[in-house]
Amino acid sequence: MESDFRRWQIGDVRVTRVVDATADDEGTRISGFILPMATPAALAPYAWLRPDYVDPQGRPMLSVHALVLETPTKTIVVDTCLGNGKQRTIEFWSMRSSPFLEDFARAGFDTGAIDVVVCTHLHLDHVGFNTVLRDGVWTPTFANARYLMSRAEWEHWKDAPDEVGPVVADSVRPVIEAGLADQVEMDHVICDEVRLLPTPGHTPGHVSVAIESQGASATITGDMIHHPCQMARPEWSTVIDSDGAQSERTRRAFLEGHTDSRKLVIGTHFTGSSAGYVVREGDAYRLSSEPAMASGRAK
Ligand SMILES: [Zn+2]
Repeated sequence: MESDFRRWQIGDVRVTRVVDATADDEGTRISGFILPMATPAALAPYAWLRPDYVDPQGRPMLSVHALVLETPTKTIVVDTCLGNGKQRTIEFWSMRSSPFLEDFARAGFDTGAIDVVVCTHLHLDHVGFNTVLRDGVWTPTFANARYLMSRAEWEHWKDAPDEVGPVVADSVRPVIEAGLADQVEMDHVICDEVRLLPTPGHTPGHVSVAIESQGASATITGDMIHHPCQMARPEWSTVIDSDGAQSERTRRAFLEGHTDSRKLVIGTHFTGSSAGYVVREGDAYRLSSEPAMASGRAK
């Protein structure tokens, strides 16, 4: 069913959201762990968060989804969610059996026809479907794709201890060993319409993904911003950011650069419609479904 899938058209680039874990899943309540300051009381003043981004109790919700970009020359998957059958210490994210790949096919995509997989960073909820278990071996899901990760990100994780499970071993090394991975610069250009945008802080080599085509533009956040409440409170870095101060600097610069513009912001973990425009609100920002500026370059 076509209508299951949220889609955006950015000039010549079509973007499709394929969800792995929804706001209804227990796992999305992980926001209470990573943003402990975002309590229902703290979020209550921000009425615009309801109902898309907080649950009826006022708790922040998160979605885990992949975004598929179809450009005139390439089909690109940005982040591959949690994956199936993976041993993790976070109980509700362990040994999952999500219909993600069935949904991916239902949305009209063929894993064998994906040209590029972008890992915004190497956390477990961004690399899971990099691989699937075949005959007991973790095997690249997208057999004909180049898997891109920033060089800085790989340098950070390649010798890091397993904290939440063998993420690098089951979801990253197999694509490297299959010869499918490229470690790239953080401002790498993928094609005419799509390039990486350095947004370090959540992790050292974290990147966002910028789309520009026919005068239209959109940015996929990755985990530079986990939840829209961080627009109201840009100083709220998550407890899992590798450098909270850098994360805040990155977020503030990004938000200021996108304020009152026609640049769409597509959130990697945003629930609801998962996208909107940054508008100024007091001394901070909020996410709006409409750009504040009526003028400017329309698509
Ligand atoms: Zn994440």
